[in-house]
Amino acid sequence: MLTHLLTFALLADSVRLWRRAVSYPRLAPRVDHAQPPALLNEYVLLSAPGVSVPEDVHWRAAQWADDEGVLVVDLLPEGWTGLDAIAQLNKVHPYDYSLKPFLSGVSAGVAVLVHERVLERVTPPEPREGYEVWLDFTHSLKRFAPWESALVVATDWRQPRPNLLSQGERNASLSALYGAQLGLMKSLSPVMWLWVGYSIVSEDLLYGLLIAFLWLAQPALILASSPLKATWLPLSLARPFLDFKRWLELLSVQERSKHIDREALRPTYEEAIAHGKGLERGEGPYFQAERDTCPICSSSQLVPHMAVPDFYQGKPGLFRLHRCGTCEHIFQNPQLSIEGLQFYYKDFYDGLGEEGMDMIFGASEQSYRQRVGMIRAHGAPERWLDVGGGHGHFTLIAKHLMPQTRFELLDLSDSVDFAVERGWCDAGMRGLFPERAQELEGQYDGVSMSHYLEHTTDPLSELDAAHCALKEGGLLMIEVPDPASIFGKSLRSFWLPWFQPQHLHFMSVENLGRSLEERGFEVLDVDREQAHQSVDLFFATLILLQRIAPDRSQPWATPASPLYPLGRGALLVCSLPLILLAVSLDRLLRPVFTRPGWSNTYRMIAQKTSLANPQDPTHEGSSPDAEASEESERSS
Ligand SMILES: [Zn+2]
Repeated sequence: MLTHLLTFALLADSVRLWRRAVSYPRLAPRVDHAQPPALLNEYVLLSAPGVSVPEDVHWRAAQWADDEGVLVVDLLPEGWTGLDAIAQLNKVHPYDYSLKPFLSGVSAGVAVLVHERVLERVTPPEPREGYEVWLDFTHSLKRFAPWESALVVATDWRQPRPNLLSQGERNASLSALYGAQLGLMKSLSPVMWLWVGYSIVSEDLLYGLLIAFLWLAQPALILASSPLKATWLPLSLARPFLDFKRWLELLSVQERSKHIDREALRPTYEEAIAHGKGLERGEGPYFQAERDTCPICSSSQLVPHMAVPDFYQGKPGLFRLHRCGTCEHIFQNPQLSIEGLQFYYKDFYDGLGEEGMDMIFGASEQSYRQRVGMIRAHGAPERWLDVGGGHGHFTLIAKHLMPQTRFELLDLSDSVDFAVERGWCDAGMRGLFPERAQELEGQYDGVSMSHYLEHTTDPLSELDAAHCALKEGGLLMIEVPDPASIFGKSLRSFWLPWFQPQHLHFMSVENLGRSLEERGFEVLDVDREQAHQSVDLFFATLILLQRIAPDRSQPWATPASPLYPLGRGALLVCSLPLILLAVSLDRLLRPVFTRPGWSNTYRMIAQKTSLANPQDPTHEGSSPDAEASEESERSS
């Protein structure tokens, strides 16, 4: 049974990669005595250190880019085949690469054609800076041309891979080639060999040989009929040797997290953990004093809701949530201090965590489009401010769909600077919204806060700030987790949106609606269906795995034995069926999971109806320690 399943998986994977391979666009073939294309001067051809590109490739690439309206073209030399080509096919479908703005950059690392408009925003490295810097550059280009990047086979150009001199360059090249699949490749290859070997000796001989043939010929089957081409027999016969050699090479390659040396961070974290004495009991300098009243309605009827550790980064600490018996507001109590928030936010959205979060934000394109849809249903704003908008993922999509609107970004972190640099927003500013609100008074037709309010230390002061920044009639769109979800109650600490320690406040639809009305807003619409994120069971499974075998490679974790990562990897591989089941249920049961009372997220749109800003008498005003919480961009 297992053998049949694995055979099926190998076949399905081959078909998937073959479809990608045959879809690769290619440059027009070389024509002798051709004339340079008219717009040649607008495109610059850049190549890896030590690689020279024939003039006709430059011409043909510029012609192709101009015809297709593309600004960045990464060139795959013909004959760049074998395992490297398969690894690149594994990463992305060439069509998706052009259509999906948030995909990570992919590059063969050989040569790239770039339009001068892109070069106004990004500077190419000097050849003396070496191959690793070059790789970072080619991979970064997709961010500067999110909808205008392409991967193309340069026909009639037989350039081998750049001759990499140092071990570091070879490792960087492999790490870039395999990306996030590096870990999987290390553990999957031996499983494949064992399976192929096992099926030859234990199964019916004919069936075993069929599997062996399929495995040997897989790369050639995928590539032979594609623009990438391959020579059948040598590639198939060499597969066992090439595979083993590649696996040995990969073993010594570390996944590159922006060249951050985890071990070098260890002393800093050890010091920070020692400083936060008592954090594992939810006490000490990283926490404020515990409140005895509800921050929304001032009731003193507080009941403990749950106490959980940090399942996401696995930093030490214990966080308690309280529920108000009067208005049902749920909040972190005692709340983290600024120092505490800084400790827990460190290396989450930036540093070590940056690449992972980038993938999560990038996966939400549909939800950004739906938010734009909600705005358009209620107005045609001229100037819009996205608060806590991180790297500008939402503003990029919104700019694309509503080109007549000016989209600006406000966030505390330097992500704003990246967004401005890449052109993902029309303007950006750094700071705390409640502090900046006065100078922005009455300037916007719209303000949005998506997965932001729950990170702030005082959500009511954020609503006051929004009221201040808006013109009369302006729209405010808020998206937050819905604490009324049945999953929050039934999955308990396994429910993603509790997201400790970052989520400090959980405002129910009723509490948020009332707080807005008290400030002179009229609630126009509440959506739970589109806003629901189909990830409840998937993340519950991941949290379970993280509880059984936490990631201990991080600089804040107690070091584990060298065998630990192998065991953890084996557990993850064995849990794949469970993860797949959870993902399938999340998707299949979406019609049920999106109903009120089930949905994990809601989106509310309100309109400022009065200039008066009647302060809630129970509200204590803006808290000065909002600072670190706004380093949040959005939670997942
Ligand atoms: Zn209350």
